[in-house]
Amino acid sequence: MDNDEKCRKMIDDIQGVIAKASDRRYVSYEHHGRRVSVRSDLKGRHREHCLCHVCFDFKPGKEDNCPYAQILFAFLCLPGGPTVSPVWECEAFRADADKLKEMKKCTE
Ligand code: SF4
Repeated sequence: MDNDEKCRKMIDDIQGVIAKASDRRYVSYEHHGRRVSVRSDLKGRHREHCLCHVCFDFKPGKEDNCPYAQILFAFLCLPGGPTVSPVWECEAFRADADKLKEMKKCTE
């Protein structure tokens, strides 16, 4: 085997490993009319991770919704880019006891 053949084989092997790893770790699916990719272990788990869903100020669709959540939502609505993003850390977070109870019920 000459050097060119060795290089081609090495590239094929590397591409094979990447393709195999990608297939397992990421999935592509239709979400709210947009074709998106997501890590397979996190698909559908946004609410579990996002502080907003247990925050007193998160009121989607209402006039007094949190301005930060509103801006994040507007960003995620821009065509062609990210569509879902959890808030993991927030200076303005205020835990809502009722939402926490509901979330606990859903995850039990
Ligand atoms: S204050 Fe922070 S955690 Fe609460 S809704 Fe706004 S962005 Fe989300």
